[in-house]
Amino acid sequence: MKSCDWTLRTSAAILFLAFIFGPLCKQIVASVAEPAVHIAPPITSLRISDLHDSFDELHFGHRHEAIDIMEPLGTPIHAVDDGTIRKLFLSRAGGKTIYEFDNAGLYCYYYAHLDHYADDLREGMPVIRGQVIGYVGTTGDASPDAAQLHFAISRLDTDRLWWKGTPINPYPILLEALMRISSSV
Ligand SMILES: [Zn+2]
Repeated sequence: MKSCDWTLRTSAAILFLAFIFGPLCKQIVASVAEPAVHIAPPITSLRISDLHDSFDELHFGHRHEAIDIMEPLGTPIHAVDDGTIRKLFLSRAGGKTIYEFDNAGLYCYYYAHLDHYADDLREGMPVIRGQVIGYVGTTGDASPDAAQLHFAISRLDTDRLWWKGTPINPYPILLEALMRISSSV
Protein backbone atom coordinates (compact mmCIF):
# COMPACT_ATOMS: atom_id res chain seq x y z
CA MET A 1 0.00 0.00 0.00
CA LYS A 2 2.81 2.33 0.98
CA SER A 3 4.75 1.67 -2.19
CA CYS A 4 1.58 2.26 -4.18
CA ASP A 5 1.20 5.66 -2.47
CA TRP A 6 4.80 6.47 -3.25
CA THR A 7 4.34 5.54 -6.90
CA LEU A 8 1.24 7.67 -7.13
CA ARG A 9 2.94 10.62 -5.49
CA THR A 10 5.99 10.30 -7.74
CA SER A 11 3.81 10.08 -10.83
CA ALA A 12 1.84 13.12 -9.72
CA ALA A 13 5.07 15.03 -9.09
CA ILE A 14 6.45 14.09 -12.52
CA LEU A 15 3.19 15.09 -14.18
CA PHE A 16 3.21 18.40 -12.30
CA LEU A 17 6.80 19.14 -13.35
CA ALA A 18 6.08 18.17 -16.95
CA PHE A 19 3.03 20.43 -16.90
CA ILE A 20 5.05 23.39 -15.58
CA PHE A 21 8.32 22.93 -17.40
CA GLY A 22 7.12 21.26 -20.62
CA PRO A 23 5.74 24.40 -22.28
CA LEU A 24 8.62 26.46 -20.87
CA CYS A 25 11.24 24.11 -22.36
CA LYS A 26 9.36 24.07 -25.65
CA GLN A 27 9.46 27.89 -25.75
CA ILE A 28 13.16 27.99 -24.89
CA VAL A 29 13.95 25.37 -27.54
CA ALA A 30 11.81 27.24 -30.10
CA SER A 31 13.53 30.57 -29.44
CA VAL A 32 17.03 29.10 -29.43
CA ALA A 33 16.64 26.53 -32.20
CA GLU A 34 14.55 28.65 -34.60
CA PRO A 35 16.61 28.84 -37.77
CA ALA A 36 17.02 32.33 -39.18
CA VAL A 37 14.29 33.13 -41.69
CA HIS A 38 15.53 35.44 -44.43
CA ILE A 39 12.74 36.83 -46.54
CA ALA A 40 12.22 39.72 -48.92
CA PRO A 41 9.71 42.41 -47.90
CA PRO A 42 6.22 41.78 -49.35
CA ILE A 43 5.89 45.50 -50.23
CA THR A 44 8.75 47.10 -52.18
CA SER A 45 8.46 50.58 -50.67
CA LEU A 46 8.28 49.27 -47.08
CA ARG A 47 10.25 51.22 -44.47
CA ILE A 48 11.20 50.34 -40.91
CA SER A 49 8.88 53.09 -39.61
CA ASP A 50 5.94 51.33 -41.34
CA LEU A 51 6.37 48.25 -39.11
CA HIS A 52 4.57 47.88 -35.80
CA ASP A 53 4.82 44.73 -33.74
CA SER A 54 1.25 43.60 -33.06
CA PHE A 55 1.95 39.85 -32.84
CA ASP A 56 0.73 39.57 -29.23
CA GLU A 57 -2.12 42.08 -29.49
CA LEU A 58 -5.69 40.85 -29.15
CA HIS A 59 -7.65 41.36 -32.36
CA PHE A 60 -11.33 40.40 -32.21
CA GLY A 61 -10.58 38.36 -29.07
CA HIS A 62 -7.70 36.35 -30.60
CA ARG A 63 -3.95 36.82 -30.39
CA HIS A 64 -3.09 38.55 -33.66
CA GLU A 65 -0.01 36.37 -34.49
CA ALA A 66 0.67 38.52 -37.56
CA ILE A 67 1.63 42.00 -38.64
CA ASP A 68 -0.59 44.54 -40.42
CA ILE A 69 1.08 46.67 -43.06
CA MET A 70 -1.03 49.68 -44.02
CA GLU A 71 -0.69 50.50 -47.74
CA PRO A 72 -2.83 52.23 -50.38
CA LEU A 73 -5.50 50.09 -52.02
CA GLY A 74 -4.07 48.16 -54.97
CA THR A 75 -0.41 48.24 -53.87
CA PRO A 76 1.33 45.16 -55.33
CA ILE A 77 2.18 42.35 -52.88
CA HIS A 78 5.33 40.34 -53.60
CA ALA A 79 6.15 36.74 -52.64
CA VAL A 80 8.62 36.96 -49.75
CA ASP A 81 10.46 33.79 -50.78
CA ASP A 82 10.69 31.18 -53.52
CA GLY A 83 7.97 28.62 -53.00
CA THR A 84 4.59 27.28 -54.04
CA ILE A 85 1.10 28.74 -53.82
CA ARG A 86 -0.39 26.10 -51.56
CA LYS A 87 -3.88 27.52 -51.06
CA LEU A 88 -6.04 30.40 -52.26
CA PHE A 89 -8.70 30.78 -49.64
CA LEU A 90 -11.63 33.11 -49.03
CA SER A 91 -12.31 33.47 -45.31
CA ARG A 92 -14.67 35.65 -43.29
CA ALA A 93 -11.83 37.20 -41.28
CA GLY A 94 -9.00 37.18 -43.82
CA GLY A 95 -10.99 37.87 -46.96
CA LYS A 96 -8.98 36.91 -50.04
CA THR A 97 -5.91 35.09 -48.77
CA ILE A 98 -2.82 33.30 -50.05
CA TYR A 99 -0.93 30.52 -48.28
CA GLU A 100 2.57 30.10 -49.73
CA PHE A 101 4.94 27.29 -48.69
CA ASP A 102 8.68 27.82 -49.03
CA ASN A 103 10.60 25.33 -51.18
CA ALA A 104 11.95 23.43 -48.17
CA GLY A 105 8.43 22.97 -46.79
CA LEU A 106 9.51 24.54 -43.49
CA TYR A 107 7.45 27.72 -43.47
CA CYS A 108 4.05 28.95 -44.60
CA TYR A 109 3.64 32.61 -45.51
CA TYR A 110 0.12 33.97 -45.22
CA TYR A 111 -1.11 37.10 -46.99
CA ALA A 112 -4.63 38.36 -46.20
CA HIS A 113 -7.23 41.10 -46.94
CA LEU A 114 -6.18 41.11 -50.62
CA ASP A 115 -8.20 43.17 -53.07
CA HIS A 116 -7.45 40.67 -55.82
CA TYR A 117 -4.93 38.04 -56.85
CA ALA A 118 -2.31 38.48 -59.57
CA ASP A 119 -3.55 37.29 -62.96
CA ASP A 120 -3.19 33.54 -63.49
CA LEU A 121 -2.27 32.88 -59.84
CA ARG A 122 -3.42 29.36 -59.00
CA GLU A 123 -2.93 26.69 -56.35
CA GLY A 124 0.16 24.52 -56.84
CA MET A 125 1.91 27.22 -58.86
CA PRO A 126 5.61 27.82 -58.13
CA VAL A 127 6.51 31.44 -57.42
CA ILE A 128 9.81 33.20 -57.05
CA ARG A 129 10.86 35.70 -54.41
CA GLY A 130 9.70 39.17 -55.43
CA GLN A 131 7.01 37.99 -57.84
CA VAL A 132 3.74 39.94 -57.62
CA ILE A 133 1.09 37.58 -56.25
CA GLY A 134 -1.71 39.97 -55.32
CA TYR A 135 -2.80 43.48 -54.40
CA VAL A 136 -3.53 45.18 -51.07
CA GLY A 137 -7.20 45.45 -50.20
CA THR A 138 -9.85 45.55 -47.49
CA THR A 139 -11.51 42.13 -47.88
CA GLY A 140 -12.50 40.15 -44.78
CA ASP A 141 -12.69 42.00 -41.49
CA ALA A 142 -10.35 44.85 -42.49
CA SER A 143 -11.92 48.28 -42.12
CA PRO A 144 -13.11 49.58 -45.53
CA ASP A 145 -11.05 52.76 -45.08
CA ALA A 146 -7.87 50.94 -43.97
CA ALA A 147 -6.39 48.96 -46.84
CA GLN A 148 -3.72 46.68 -45.43
CA LEU A 149 -1.70 43.53 -45.83
CA HIS A 150 -2.09 41.13 -42.90
CA PHE A 151 1.08 39.04 -43.08
CA ALA A 152 1.85 35.96 -40.98
CA ILE A 153 4.51 33.24 -40.87
CA SER A 154 4.04 29.71 -39.51
CA ARG A 155 6.60 27.01 -38.97
CA LEU A 156 4.95 23.98 -40.58
CA ASP A 157 4.37 20.74 -38.73
CA THR A 158 5.72 17.51 -40.21
CA ASP A 159 2.35 16.88 -41.87
CA ARG A 160 2.71 20.20 -43.74
CA LEU A 161 -0.91 21.27 -43.72
CA TRP A 162 -1.66 24.86 -44.73
CA TRP A 163 -4.09 25.44 -41.88
CA LYS A 164 -1.72 24.12 -39.19
CA GLY A 165 1.66 25.18 -37.88
CA THR A 166 3.31 27.26 -35.18
CA PRO A 167 2.98 31.03 -35.63
CA ILE A 168 6.26 32.95 -35.45
CA ASN A 169 6.51 36.71 -35.16
CA PRO A 170 7.08 38.31 -38.59
CA TYR A 171 8.12 41.65 -37.06
CA PRO A 172 11.83 40.91 -36.30
CA ILE A 173 12.08 38.94 -39.56
CA LEU A 174 10.78 41.87 -41.63
CA LEU A 175 12.97 44.26 -39.68
CA GLU A 176 16.00 42.12 -40.51
CA ALA A 177 14.94 42.01 -44.17
CA LEU A 178 14.72 45.83 -44.36
CA MET A 179 18.02 46.34 -42.55
CA ARG A 180 19.72 43.84 -44.88
CA ILE A 181 18.44 45.81 -47.91
CA SER A 182 19.44 49.20 -46.53
CA SER A 183 22.93 47.97 -45.65
CA SER A 184 23.42 46.60 -49.17
CA VAL A 185 22.71 49.93 -50.94
ZN1 LIG B 1 -4.11 41.64 -39.01
